[in-house]
Amino acid sequence: MDGIVIIGAGECGTRAAFALREEGYGGAISLIGNEPHLPYERPPLSKPADTGVHLKAITTAEAMEAVAINYCQGISVMEVDTLSRSVSLSDGCTVRYNKLLLATGARPRQLTCTGASRALDFRTHSHAAEIFRRAANARRVAIIGGGLIGMELAAVLRSKGLEVGIIEAAAKPLGRAVPPRFAEHLHRVHVERGVQFFLGRGIAGIEDGFVRLDDGAQVPSDLTIAAIGVVPDTELASKAGIATGNGILTNAYLRTSDPNVFAAGDCAAVSLNGAAHVRYESWRNARRQAETAARNMVGASEPLVSTPWFWSDQYDLTLQVAGLPAAGQETVVRTCPNGEIEFYLLDDRLVGAAGLGIGNAVARDIKLAEMLIDAGVMLDVSSLGDTNVSLKDLLKANRSAAA
Ligand SMILES: Cc1cc2nc3c(=O)[nH]c(=O)nc-3n(C[C@H](O)[C@H](O)[C@H](O)COP(=O)(O)OP(=O)(O)OC[C@H]3O[C@@H](n4cnc5c(N)ncnc54)[C@H](O)[C@@H]3O)c2cc1C
Repeated sequence: MDGIVIIGAGECGTRAAFALREEGYGGAISLIGNEPHLPYERPPLSKPADTGVHLKAITTAEAMEAVAINYCQGISVMEVDTLSRSVSLSDGCTVRYNKLLLATGARPRQLTCTGASRALDFRTHSHAAEIFRRAANARRVAIIGGGLIGMELAAVLRSKGLEVGIIEAAAKPLGRAVPPRFAEHLHRVHVERGVQFFLGRGIAGIEDGFVRLDDGAQVPSDLTIAAIGVVPDTELASKAGIATGNGILTNAYLRTSDPNVFAAGDCAAVSLNGAAHVRYESWRNARRQAETAARNMVGASEPLVSTPWFWSDQYDLTLQVAGLPAAGQETVVRTCPNGEIEFYLLDDRLVGAAGLGIGNAVARDIKLAEMLIDAGVMLDVSSLGDTNVSLKDLLKANRSAAA
């Protein structure tokens, strides 16, 4: 049966399957996922409720059945053959396709030090279940990696009363994705809550009961977790002869080097307007790319248009970052009740906005900032920082000026 095959039933693959039906596609859809569950959301794994980690399903078996999405649960695609346009499955079946979407996501980067296998990974529901099961009987936790996932996990475990140490090779935590103002703020909050940081240090080895650092120091640990980032899952693609680099390479239409194969989500490195290939690891990116890929697989010719956006919850604080803040941009800060926003401008145009606040304090303003970024209009820097000028009014004024 020819149709559309989607490899990977994560946020991206699942969204793509439904988006195909929303576009009116009536052919066969096979959604093949190697995890033993219904498709589920990853973000809640590092933000579990007091009752512990639970599986938040993206959809139900009935919802997929209702729109004839053939979900192959717990099945791996072993090989892609682009000549016969078919995929071979771990259950021995072969499925042919007209169009194929690679939504294989990413895998945890592996430690290479001695005793590396003592550290638990953190990517899947099974990983999270094991971490929280072991945390229930642990007193001291070492988290290797001070990125977003490591810091979120530290917040949860510290709030449960565990002693938490974060070991980070860089001089500061959160350096990769979070603007310095808010990375420093979050670092401070963790220190105030009693998280210990071991910065600028590498790992010499993981032993029973402690992590040995490269300067000889020991970080006591009954439970060690590796959160040192992910690598895109490109194996199937490269074996099939599809171009890969820091991800499966696609053009702006999410088409790979094979015209019948698309890639989207954490596994895809996308080139917009002929620029370098860029990969984003975020929930919304997975959904937006899924929707664009779905439309293009059924005949549209639509380049990806998506302002990057992600969030992170740590203690009672929520961070949101929209657009592409970068060093060297002009910045201006606006305070709001229970939070603060920093705007990033290039040639008087807003290109990014980040906010940190209690609960949803910055959500509305970040949404409006995103609209201002998308509008691409020239802005007066002082008005962005002036709390007497509402962002909604700024947006309205720019819209009527453009009309
Ligand atoms: C703990 C955690 C917390 C996060 N929190 C946030 C957050 O707060 N905010 C945010 O914006 N983002 C967050 N993210 C990131 C976000 O969840 C990811 O960007 C998103 O899930 C990517 O979706 P995806 O479908 O591209 O990849 P994935 O979710 O990785 O799904 C890919 C799926 O494909 C399967 N697969 C791979 N190879 C095969 C094969 N050969 N055959 C069959 N199946 C295969 C994989 O097993 C996997 O199930 C978080 C991620 C994690 C892990």
